[in-house]
Amino acid sequence: MRVCVIGAGAAGLCAARHLIAEPSVTEVDVLEQSGQLGGTWVYTENVGYDDFGLPIHTSMYKSLRTNLPKEIMGFPDFPIPDSEKSYLPAKDMLAFLQLYSDKHGVTRHIRFNHHVQLIKPKQGPIGELWDVTFKDLTSGLSKTKEYDYLFVCNGHYNTPFIPSIPGLKEFEGDVMHSHDYRVPDIFAGKRVLVVGAGPSGMDIAYEITSVTKKVILSHHLKEQPRSVFPDNLVQKPDVKKLQGKTAVFQDGSQEDIDVVFLSTGYLYNFPFLHASCDIVVEDNCVEPLYKHLVNISHPTMCFIGVPYYVCAYSMFDLQVRYYLRSMNGTFKLPSREEMTSHWEDEKQDRAARGFTKRQAHMMGPDQEKYYASLATEANTSNLPSVITKIREESSIRFLHNLQSYRQDVYKVIDDDTYEIISNGKRE
Ligand code: FAD
Repeated sequence: MRVCVIGAGAAGLCAARHLIAEPSVTEVDVLEQSGQLGGTWVYTENVGYDDFGLPIHTSMYKSLRTNLPKEIMGFPDFPIPDSEKSYLPAKDMLAFLQLYSDKHGVTRHIRFNHHVQLIKPKQGPIGELWDVTFKDLTSGLSKTKEYDYLFVCNGHYNTPFIPSIPGLKEFEGDVMHSHDYRVPDIFAGKRVLVVGAGPSGMDIAYEITSVTKKVILSHHLKEQPRSVFPDNLVQKPDVKKLQGKTAVFQDGSQEDIDVVFLSTGYLYNFPFLHASCDIVVEDNCVEPLYKHLVNISHPTMCFIGVPYYVCAYSMFDLQVRYYLRSMNGTFKLPSREEMTSHWEDEKQDRAARGFTKRQAHMMGPDQEKYYASLATEANTSNLPSVITKIREESSIRFLHNLQSYRQDVYKVIDDDTYEIISNGKRE
């Protein structure tokens, strides 16, 4: 089996790590458009386009530290090495991924500066094959190569989602997305409206208070953060409209602002998939996928890392092990009809529980069930429940103690239990 992995971020590295250990796989090519592995975790001061005219992939900002403790950010078979702190700077995560890749012999399979341009299925003598067209950015030459299986691991935190706020296009100040944020200095003395209170929105809103005149954090969180913010930060409901340089909020209140800073998330984007791959992305719902992973129309294509609000690297590992076991015949994927009906049932169930279409791949409370369903179907080891428990704990502390939750230190006791040292106290 000849396998192509698109992207050398954490998901692609994990896919390659297992693929090269699988006897039935004869060839593994990891095609990476940049000159470095690590994807999200590669920091650059540059925004816009790179030297080859491709959009800058990373959304990393200079001060970033992980929003989850390292105790749940490693791979099940390769934890992050022990150190004093639980929440790591981005450069440590990058170094960890480099170590993971080198230790497992993945790095030599990566073709750096290879940009995947087009993927098309075609009929082979005994089944479907894939034509992958990629460009060697250094030589400028494009080539098409044939593969039996495809792992799509191109990440989904790089194409900004711009919400439709009335008056945004006509706004008289600056508009910027968090994808392009690097350092706070650009906001010195300004009045900044931060739209969205996800991990990046909250972190950046807090960080820029050190230089701004005022920060207005607009969000619709169900639970109000109990974090104590500096005096120059106020919270507001959703923006109703922008007029000139004024923001009007849903409660009728108004604020004069200089900058609209959109921390409104990202879009799934697979620009290299030809229409004949039969993958449609609408309102951030990627379909049809079985278990958020297998292309139902072409089951020799899988997507690693689509679900969010998960323990990412552990989930990547489980998804890869699951899919690999279907490739090597350890278990058989259900028929296309069965996979389709499973996906339709899941959509209905999610809708009945109040999930919107945009939340099609949100796991959160469904994580444990999702992991168990993959592990059971493929008869492979499941992830320990302690990781989802720690994730939940860390997320709550993030919301209510933004200033200091990253000083907490976690210790995993066993598959079910953990302890935290917070403010010098064991909890
Ligand atoms: P990426 O890391 O995005 O890697 C995708 C790779 O594919 C890139 O190297 C890219 O260059 C390559 N690629 C894309 N298109 C092509 C193409 N056409 N041809 C060739 N190569 C291509 N998660 C956590 O668990 N904890 C955190 O604390 C955390 N913090 C985050 C902070 C920020 C600011 C962001 C944006 C995300 C954060 N995440 C965090 C989520 C993080 O992105 C994932 O954990 C994980 O690193 C994603 O890995 P990935 O391999 O799916 O994608």
